[in-house]
Amino acid sequence: MIEQTFAPTLELRPDVRRLTFPLPTRPGHVHAYLLRGDDGWTLVDTGLALPDTAGRVAAAAAELDGPIVRILVTHMHPDHLGGSEPAAEATGAPVLQGELDHAQTLHVWGNPEWPRRISVWFRSHGVPPEVADELIEQGSLYAPFIRFAPDPQLVREGDEVSGWRVVEMPGHADGHLCLVRDGELLAGDHLLDRITPTVGLWPDSRLDPLGDYLDSLRRTVDLGPRVVYPGHGEPLRDAGRRAQELVDHHRERLGAAEAALGDEPRSGYDVSYDLFGDRLSSGARRFAVGETLSHLERLRREGRAERVEDDGIVRWHR
Ligand SMILES: [Zn+2]
Repeated sequence: MIEQTFAPTLELRPDVRRLTFPLPTRPGHVHAYLLRGDDGWTLVDTGLALPDTAGRVAAAAAELDGPIVRILVTHMHPDHLGGSEPAAEATGAPVLQGELDHAQTLHVWGNPEWPRRISVWFRSHGVPPEVADELIEQGSLYAPFIRFAPDPQLVREGDEVSGWRVVEMPGHADGHLCLVRDGELLAGDHLLDRITPTVGLWPDSRLDPLGDYLDSLRRTVDLGPRVVYPGHGEPLRDAGRRAQELVDHHRERLGAAEAALGDEPRSGYDVSYDLFGDRLSSGARRFAVGETLSHLERLRREGRAERVEDDGIVRWHR
């Protein structure tokens, strides 16, 4: 039996509905949205591929006044993309995805060599082998929860989807898409209330993800949406203020990263202890290293840090 998954109290316009999928890990849920258009409904994001994903989508579809005619994935993270193939099977609808996001999906989730690739890359940033190599062991653990459409319809900046305009907001993910429509922003993980979206540097990614994110946040301030529908947590009413708060947060973290550097070069792994403390699990540590590196790379581009590579290890100094 599938419980009522539409949020009962949320103030949404009648043509925007929220569908919540459970997550086994924090924050425990991800919000998908259903957008009503002239030709039917568009499902945005799909949760993980869990045993009941298709059932949840089918139950949601049964409550609508028309068919789900397309599925749009905002970005390639497992909690947004993972259930896209089961959702497509449940509805018969095609999946739409950004071009870069799809390329990265294949490169990461469709690539048996990826766990080894990222493990070697972590080691090059000073991560001890036992922390880096866990990824190789864990690689296949996640595979059943990530079932993506192998050949989605590609969308890009400016395209129209069900009366909404596609905007590219790189940062949290390189190929992150949002949708905008007169004062509304469907944000995925680009903008969240209370949660700070992670912004990491990863192998084979865009070169300056934090620079991308700061630009995307400024763009959000300029768009000035009245309401934002996020992938986690409640809708935001004051998006400009929240976007500015995130800009300020990263400016502060850039200062902290700069303060952790001196004349002696240090690896991203070492600097992550200054920024995130010493009490993280191996998994959280790897995210901390990615996030530390996005800040160090931004500092370098602002002329506030230097990057050196020696004996296969990347290090940073003033
Ligand atoms: Zn995400």
